[in-house]
Amino acid sequence: MANAWTPMTPAASLWADTAEPLSAFPRLKGEQQADVVIIGAGYTGLSAAHHIAKSGLAPIVLEANQPGWGASGRNGGVITAKFRLSFREIDAAHGRAMARRMYEIAHESVDMVEELVSEFGITGARLTRTGQVKAAHNDATLRAATNEAAWMTREMRDTEVSILDPHQVRDETGSSVFVGGILNPGSGGIHPLNYLRGLARGLRQRRVPIFQESPVLTLRRDGAGVIAETPDGVVRARHAIIATNSYSDLTSATARVQRTLVPFRSALIATEKLSPNLAGSLMPTGRSYTETKRMMRWFRKVDDRVVFGGRGAFGKQDSDSAFDALRKAMVGIFPELADIPLAFKWSGLVAMTLDSVPHVGRLDDRTLYAVGYNGAGVAMSSLMGRYLAALVRGEAVDLGLLDADSLKIIPFYALRAPAVRVVAGWYQFLDAAGR
Ligand SMILES: Cc1cc2nc3c(=O)[nH]c(=O)nc-3n(C[C@H](O)[C@H](O)[C@H](O)COP(=O)(O)OP(=O)(O)OC[C@H]3O[C@@H](n4cnc5c(N)ncnc54)[C@H](O)[C@@H]3O)c2cc1C
Repeated sequence: MANAWTPMTPAASLWADTAEPLSAFPRLKGEQQADVVIIGAGYTGLSAAHHIAKSGLAPIVLEANQPGWGASGRNGGVITAKFRLSFREIDAAHGRAMARRMYEIAHESVDMVEELVSEFGITGARLTRTGQVKAAHNDATLRAATNEAAWMTREMRDTEVSILDPHQVRDETGSSVFVGGILNPGSGGIHPLNYLRGLARGLRQRRVPIFQESPVLTLRRDGAGVIAETPDGVVRARHAIIATNSYSDLTSATARVQRTLVPFRSALIATEKLSPNLAGSLMPTGRSYTETKRMMRWFRKVDDRVVFGGRGAFGKQDSDSAFDALRKAMVGIFPELADIPLAFKWSGLVAMTLDSVPHVGRLDDRTLYAVGYNGAGVAMSSLMGRYLAALVRGEAVDLGLLDADSLKIIPFYALRAPAVRVVAGWYQFLDAAGR
């Protein structure tokens, strides 16, 4: 076995700067046996490990870097009960029963985060259910958002959403650029890395083995089970779970899953702490906010800083121009931030799918996976851990549209990067044209 792996260091983010420390896990050395070997220690992998252990089976988690190195340690911490595909679109394409099932799954996912935070006592996660406002940047998008909200109330019996007029959105955000909005009170916010570390710490207390800096280099069938090989060790197990999402290209062991995903860079900036006066005038209700634009941007206030997110650079690396564009967009909404320096800039990859919903399925009778959260995976990946555990136990689970009975390979996979640029350019054009 070649020992050529260099573990990657965590993204230097607001979360890394403020997270509770987590002592290192060992590297895998030698041979281990398990019922289930889980590849990846993000929310998907750790939640799966917890639910598998809870049912009396023995999981082992293998992480290439450190737990939370991937998207789970560097996301925006916005918790929403939705998919990139709206429930109305699901209803139109797949019928009412499917739309209702997807609505249930979405709400179950937010409840799952609450349940895990409570079960593991993760106070550092600072989970809030203060709600989210979708803020409209013109009348056309407000009309569309309002119609959508009315449809949700009528057809999904969602009585919680309410429509905000321009004054209410101004009071909510502290910005006067929006023409109205929709309030969804069930959404929430979290410290994403503390949530992740809380899960990892809780699993350690429950004696679930986690190995860090232990990338799975090969994963293969062996008789009635699987063998996962790392640079210095081997795990033999009855089942494998691939929980590598947008980082499925770190080694070739998860290449089959990678080919179902289009990675897209998402970036965040966070300001220096604002003065008490300024902090008090922006986002006083402590919700999170999204825009109605196709190239969606979102913001929230954390510890008196404005955290602002949106599309990152194309390609493998961050770029200053993408962060500059985010800053410009932030100042467009909050002109009073023009002179406030940025304290943190970071980015990560989200995994998009062609049908805009996550995929949960089997590569074969021994290997399961859950990937493709389309940038809305804090809650959904937490829930998928529970569903993966049920699938390992052989239970029937109604996964709705998430059920990936056959791998949905991206056609013309090599062209995915230029295709992402073309689609993003078109969306920017439509946004600029106010459509
Ligand atoms: C910048 C950004 C902002 C986001 N904001 C939000 C948000 O506000 N709200 C929201 O709901 N969602 C958000 N998301 C999406 C959300 O973070 C993800 O959907 C979720 O964290 C996915 O979790 P995961 O466990 O599946 O994958 P990850 O957390 O990415 O974990 C995968 C892990 O697998 C490991 N790995 C890869 N290959 C191997 C291998 N061969 N062997 C061992 N380990 C391996 C990686 O090192 C990584 O740690 C955001 C994502 C990004 C990048």
